Amino acid sequence: MRTKRCAPLAALLAFAAAASPAGAWPFRDASFVRLLRGSGYGMLQYEEAAWLVLGPDGTESLVHWPPPDRENGQRWRGPLPTGTVALLHTHPADRPPRPSVLDQDVASRLRLPVYTISRWAIYRADPDGTVALVRSRYWTPTIDWALADRENPSGRDASRSGEGSSSGTSPGMEASDR
Ligand SMILES: [Zn+2]
Repeated sequence: MRTKRCAPLAALLAFAAAASPAGAWPFRDASFVRLLRGSGYGMLQYEEAAWLVLGPDGTESLVHWPPPDRENGQRWRGPLPTGTVALLHTHPADRPPRPSVLDQDVASRLRLPVYTISRWAIYRADPDGTVALVRSRYWTPTIDWALADRENPSGRDASRSGEGSSSGTSPGMEASDR
């Protein structure tokens, strides 16, 4: 920012971020998958975490956090790796996929985006306090039941009684029929 030479690069990066469709960052997409696999496909009560590092040649790599200990979970000791541009970590499937208040606090303190990766979605908490849904080629939208129930308070009950079924068809079976 101090020199004019930096301006075009900054502008280019800003454009890339704004215009990046899902899949525009193959390494990040692959990293999201790799980290989620490492947490039992998001089903274990175990979070994988890694720093996303940008090398001098512009290539991205991951620096994985050490495995969590039994009591304290994950912890990174020492300085951040050189070139760190973001923190990536997984959330178990039974936890909210969005960044927690602590995640947002970490983003603010580190002045780095913090990504949360779960089976349901990927989110990014930015240092300025905003939280954004991150698109990735491997994640397709899933239903937001909290929103659906809020905007359709009687929808589920009405449709169930309208089916006239006394057998109590499970949602899973219903879904497989379609
Ligand atoms: Zn988190």
